[in-house]
Parts: sequence; structure tokens; C-alpha cells
Amino acid sequence: AHKGRTPEEVVKKYLQKVRNPPEEDCTICMEALGGPSGYKGPDMTSVSRTESIGRLTQCGHLYHLQCLVAMYKNGNKDGSLQCPTCKTIYGVKTGNQPPGKMEYHVIPHSLPGHPDCKTIRIIYNIPSSIQGPGHPDPGKPFTARGFPRHCYLPDNEKGRKVLRMLLVAWDRRLIFSVGTSSTTGESDTVIWNEIHHKTEFGSNLTGHGYPDPGYLDNILQELKAQGITEEEEKL
Ligand code: NAD
Ligand code: ZN
Ligand code: ZN
Repeated sequence: AHKGRTPEEVVKKYLQKVRNPPEEDCTICMEALGGPSGYKGPDMTSVSRTESIGRLTQCGHLYHLQCLVAMYKNGNKDGSLQCPTCKTIYGVKTGNQPPGKMEYHVIPHSLPGHPDCKTIRIIYNIPSSIQGPGHPDPGKPFTARGFPRHCYLPDNEKGRKVLRMLLVAWDRRLIFSVGTSSTTGESDTVIWNEIHHKTEFGSNLTGHGYPDPGYLDNILQELKAQGITEEEEKL
């Protein structure tokens, strides 16, 4: 995807020109917007004065062009950009979830707090393998603990909506990541990304169980923060 488009070209797609820089700092490099970017990597070519800062088209936040380009190069370079201030997403955000499988089915039992419906069980399976481009240490192995991981949603209208959005999140590689587990401290391992799942069915020993009346609204917010909204679900 986005072959032949340089990081600078990707970033510029989402920017409007700014004629008079306000007397504010760029929140990426903490240097004045009126001055040069604090981000001067060895491969940074000089940019013309009028192009040195830009305004993100939807949210209006201003940054040095070179700061946004450096941020983009630091990510997984998928053609999308996320405003570091307000998290507005430009383009389609994708992640670095390793290859694996997502399956789901309905089980004929009710979750605590959802006595009137059955339950959707999602099963994620990711095998350990070697880190790829977009991972912390490409070429080095990563581990995958606790797979298959089983997760639960109430089989009602809202739960099914969350499921459809999770399927989109899976396709965009946003459910898991590779990094250091905050629970075990292990590095180079598969970890949950920023979309919370319920992994306990009839108990709540870890805090990742039911009942939790705010859960579905919470996960809808977390999906939105990854750029996944109702309008985008396609099944
Ligand atoms: P992590 O500890 O780095 O945490 C990342 C996010 O996942 C955090 O927001 C955290 O709140 C959440 N999280 C942590 N434990 C969770 C759990 N049990 N269920 C749902 N969400 C959880 O993430 P991690 O290293 O991927 O997971 C923590 C540990 O839980 C790992 O050691 C993993 O093996 C284990 N786990 C096991 C199963 C299983 O079915 N056996 C399922 C999930 C997690
Ligand atoms: Zn800057
Ligand atoms: Zn913004």
C-alpha cells in the first residue's frame, strides 16, 4: 500500500499551509512553531519557510512539518497519521498485530449482568514467531503466552455491534501488539493493544470479567480511539 509515496508526501496530504505561525510551541518537539523543528535527523532535508509548519485539516492542530514526518517514520508507515494532541485519525489506522486467527461462536449461557441473552465467545490464536518490520526488534523471536485467549461479549444488539467492530479491528491488526507485558514484565511478547477484552466468563478475579455495566460503552470508546466507528463496520 502507498507505494512510491514518501513520508513527507503522506503527511502533506493531511495538512493545510499556515502563513503566520502563532507564538506557540510545537507539542512534538517543544520548540517554537516560528523557529526550526527540534527534530533534525541526519536525513532531514531543509524545507522552505512557508512549508515548515502545517495545520492538520480536520482538527486544526499545528506542528512543524518535519516533526510530523519524523513521527510518521517512527510508526508503521501505513499511510495514516494520528494527531498526537487530540488523537484525530487521518486515513485508516492499522497496527502491528502478528499473524493469527480470530474465531467466534455463540454459547448457550448468560454472562453475570446479562441474564437475558446468550454469550458470544471470541477465540484469538496467535503463534510465537519472528518479529517483522513494524515490531520493536525485527528479526528477533517473540513469544505468545496464554493462547488461545477466550473473550466474552453478551449476545445482544450492542454486543454484536462490538463484535462487528472487533472484526474490523482484527483485519486492521489493532487487537494485539508485540512489546513488553505490563502484567508479566516479559519483553518481545504478544500483548493486548488498547482495546480491553473480557477474558473471564463466570468470575471476575482479574478485573477482566463480568458484571461490568460500563464495559460495552468503554470498548466502543476504545474502538473509536483506534479509528473504528459504526459507519465503518462492513460485514
Ligand atoms: P499486558 O499485561 O501488557 O496488558 C495490556 C492490557 O491488557 C492492559 O490494558 C491490561 O489491563 C489488559 N489485560 C491484562 N491482563 C488481562 C487479562 N487477563 N484479560 C484481559 N485483559 C488483560 O497484556 P498481556 O501480557 O497481553 O496480558 C497479561 C497476561 O494475561 C499475560 O501473561 C497473558 O498470558 C495472560 N492472559 C491469559 C489469557 C488466557 O486465556 N490464558 C488471556 C488473556 C491474558
Ligand atoms: Zn516541532
Ligand atoms: Zn488534533
